[in-house]
Amino acid sequence: MGLDILIRNGTVVDGSGMLRYRADVGVQGGRIVEIGRIRAPAERTIDADGLIVAPGFIDGHTHMDAQVAWDPLGSCSCWHGVTSVVMGNCGFALAPCEAQDREWFARCLTAVEDIPTEAMMAGIDWTWETFPEYLATVERLPKAINYGMYIGHSALRMYAMGRRGVEEQANEDDLRRMAHAVEEAVRAGAMGLSTSRATTHITPDGSPVASRIADWEEIDRLVGAMAALDAGVFQIGPDISSGEAQRVFLERLRRVALENGRPIMFGVLATRQGVDPNPWHYQTHYIDDTMAAGGRMYGQATTRSINAVFSLKSYLPFDTLPGWRTIRAFPLEEQKRHLADPEVRRRLVAEEAEMKPRDSVLQGGGAATTDPRMPDYDNLYPMLGVDWDDPTVAQLAQAGDKHPIEIIIDLALENENQVFVQPLVNESPNDVLGILKHRRTLATFSDSGAHVCQEMGSSLQTHLLSYWVRNKQQFTLEEAIRMLTFDNASAWELPDRGLVRAGYMADLVVFDQQRIKPRLPTIEQDLPGGARRLVQKADGIAATIINGAVAFENGEATGNFAGQVLKGPLAGRQKP
Ligand SMILES: [Zn+2]
Repeated sequence: MGLDILIRNGTVVDGSGMLRYRADVGVQGGRIVEIGRIRAPAERTIDADGLIVAPGFIDGHTHMDAQVAWDPLGSCSCWHGVTSVVMGNCGFALAPCEAQDREWFARCLTAVEDIPTEAMMAGIDWTWETFPEYLATVERLPKAINYGMYIGHSALRMYAMGRRGVEEQANEDDLRRMAHAVEEAVRAGAMGLSTSRATTHITPDGSPVASRIADWEEIDRLVGAMAALDAGVFQIGPDISSGEAQRVFLERLRRVALENGRPIMFGVLATRQGVDPNPWHYQTHYIDDTMAAGGRMYGQATTRSINAVFSLKSYLPFDTLPGWRTIRAFPLEEQKRHLADPEVRRRLVAEEAEMKPRDSVLQGGGAATTDPRMPDYDNLYPMLGVDWDDPTVAQLAQAGDKHPIEIIIDLALENENQVFVQPLVNESPNDVLGILKHRRTLATFSDSGAHVCQEMGSSLQTHLLSYWVRNKQQFTLEEAIRMLTFDNASAWELPDRGLVRAGYMADLVVFDQQRIKPRLPTIEQDLPGGARRLVQKADGIAATIINGAVAFENGEATGNFAGQVLKGPLAGRQKP
C-alpha cells in the first residue's frame, strides 16, 4: 500500500508528554497510519532530519466566525502551527441571526472585536439563520484548518429577543426559545455555549453586550440545557473589573459548575488594571477548590501579555486630540512630513497634557486604542523584538533626554511599521509563567480573528516554544507540545486529534526547535474592502499538515484546503 505522505527521519514529540524518539511517520487517507522505519513508497516525502514532528496545535479561544468566510487560510493562527481552532467564544457569533439583523450583528462585532463592519458585509455570503445552517455553511467553505464552534449567548439572545435582548431580562417564552436553540446547536455539533460578563464587552453605543444583560438564572437555564444532553463546554468571559466583582462572579460560577457538571472555561488573568484586582493564584486556587468539590473547570492562559498595539499605520494613543486628528487624517507620507517638522512636534507634544487622565476603569484593546487615557510611558514599549525584553518608552525618553512622544515619533519615522505595545493584562512574565505552570490551565487564548487592528495574540504557540522553552527553559519541549495539543484536545474532547499516533487524524507540524519564533507584527490592508489589520507570521516551521494534506510549507500556503468542522459528541446521533 502506498502512502500519501512520508515524513522521514524526524524526531517525534507525540503530544502526550512522553520523551521524544526518532521515527518516520506515514500518512494515508487523512490519517496517521504508520510510525517507525517505514519502507512503503509514498507519493510525497518530507525530509524531517533534524526537525521535530508534533501534533498540530489546537487553539480553543478564537473569534474567526466572520473571517472564516473570506480567509480560507485561517490566519494568523495558521502561521504558528495551529491546525484546529474553536471559534464563537465570549458569546459572540454570527448565528443564530435573522436576515434583517445581519448588519446590526456585524456592528456589534465591530464594537467588541474590531472586525470592520464593511469587511463583514463585503466578505460574507450571509445565507444562514440558525446555528445548524451556519455550521453547514462553514462545512462547505474552503478552509486550510479545522474549526469547532460554540453557539454564542449574545447572538442567541438578540435572535430570540430582538432589540429587547440588549435591554431586558428574558421572559419564560424567551428562555424556552433560547434553551431550545442551545439544544439544537449542541445536537448539530456545537462545542458548547459561550457567554461573557466582561465589562470590556460593549455594543456600538457603549452599553453592555446582550449576554451581560442576562441574569444568572438565564445562564443556569442555558447550561442546564446542555446538562440535560450531557454534552457541551461552557465558556465565559469573566468580570475582572475589580477584585470584588471577580470574587462575586467566581462564586456564582461555581454553582453553575457544581449543578451541571459541564466543563467550564474562563480566562485566568493577572492585571494591574481595575480596582484591587485579585492575583492570578486566587483564580487557580478557586479552580482547584471547584474541582475538589466535584466540578469540572479549566482556566485559559496566554503565553505573554495581552497588549493594546499602536502604530503609525493604525492607532496611536493621541489620535483623538484635535491637532493630532488633523495630521492623522492625511495620507501616510504627508503625516510623516508633518511629524518631522519641529514646530508641529512641539505642538503635538504640548497637546498631550489635555488627554484624559488615567483612571481605574479596566480597558481592553478596544477602549485602549479608541478611548485612550494619558499613556503610562513606563508601561508602553516599542516592539523592537519578540523576546519580551524591550525598553519602555519612558526609559528611552530618559536616556535620550527627550519627551516620550518624541521617542514615539522618532521611532515611527525611522520605521513606519514600528509597533508599540501597552500591556493590558498579564503584564508580568512571572505572572504568565505561574498561570501557565498550573496544571488546570490551558495554553489557548489567542483571540485570533478579533481586535484585528488593536491586539495580536496569534503567536501564542510560537512564543511558548521560542520564549518559554528555548530562551527561558521553563518547560521542556515535550511539556510545551503537550500543552498545545493533547491537553487542549482532551479539554474539548476532540476525538482522534492531539497526538502523533497511528489511527489519529494527520494534523502535524514539522518544525526546527532552534529556529521556531514569531516574527514582528505588521499592519496590512488585506481585509475585504481593503480594511487594515495586524498580521504576524513565524519562522522555523517547515510544514503544517492538516487532515493528511500539506497546507503550509516554509511559511507559504500550498492551496490545500482539507480543513474540517470539528463537532461535539452528539453530531450525527439520532435523537433518542
Ligand atoms: Zn474572546
